[in-house]
Amino acid sequence: MIRLGIDLGGTKTEIMALATDGGVALRRRISTPRDYGSLIRALDELVQGAETELGGRGSVGMAIPGSESFGSNLIKNANTTYLNGKPLRQDLEKILGRPVRLANDANCFALSEASDGAAEGAGTVFGVIAGTGVGGGVVIDGKVLGGAHGIGGEWGHIPLPAPSALEVTTAPLCYCGKRGCLEVWCSGPGLAQDFKRVTGREASADQIAASNGTEERAAVIRLIDRFARAMATMVNILDPDVIVMGGGLSNIDRLYSELPPLVEKYGFNLGGPPRIVKNVHGDSSGVRGAAWLWPEENV
Ligand SMILES: [Zn+2]
Repeated sequence: MIRLGIDLGGTKTEIMALATDGGVALRRRISTPRDYGSLIRALDELVQGAETELGGRGSVGMAIPGSESFGSNLIKNANTTYLNGKPLRQDLEKILGRPVRLANDANCFALSEASDGAAEGAGTVFGVIAGTGVGGGVVIDGKVLGGAHGIGGEWGHIPLPAPSALEVTTAPLCYCGKRGCLEVWCSGPGLAQDFKRVTGREASADQIAASNGTEERAAVIRLIDRFARAMATMVNILDPDVIVMGGGLSNIDRLYSELPPLVEKYGFNLGGPPRIVKNVHGDSSGVRGAAWLWPEENV
């Protein structure tokens, strides 16, 4: 049987078919349509096209840049803004004639890595995305922890734990309306902003991470310390078997050697460093996780 996964991105939308062994049977990519009606038609065409080519019917899961509102199932918090307030799942189910599962892209990332990626075989997985923003998803025994309000694992908008006096007074405002969220400290733009605040110089997160300059290295050390405080909070609650990192900042190799002992230091008597690893599937995690939204027994 076929598992179809769709990753709905801001500029590109991708469909992937996973065979039962987890291998990729098909992959197609289109530009994300500019309006809702065109999107629904394009998704229908993608699914029909894939099934014609593969000669069978599949389950359909989709990674979305937002979540479904509790109760109404209308999309909220999507940066592809025409999705907000739309009953996306119901509209897709109607046109495709089958149940469809949707999940936030960070949850799909965690599910992909937990299914056959860096956290394969682990019971509790905390997936972290740190790139243009900070997101997260929790997978327990192969299932996404969506939560009562669809924000399970969304640690990007917790306040930075144990802030210094300077971090309190300089905490940037977050787009969500709160000040000092993890997202404004530990995202790529957050790193660049912190570097500028301290040094007065402009540099991108990639430039800072790649540099051996004293000020750049100090900025990365501050980033790692902030990540460690926030991860220790999550570890105290979830105690995950594995923390998998994704997004642009996950390419900073120092994270994997320096974060575990720091998280242990900030955590509650862990008795050892947590396992923190880099993702395996990279940019494919959204589409792979979407396909994995339907477990074996339902396919
Ligand atoms: Zn926020």
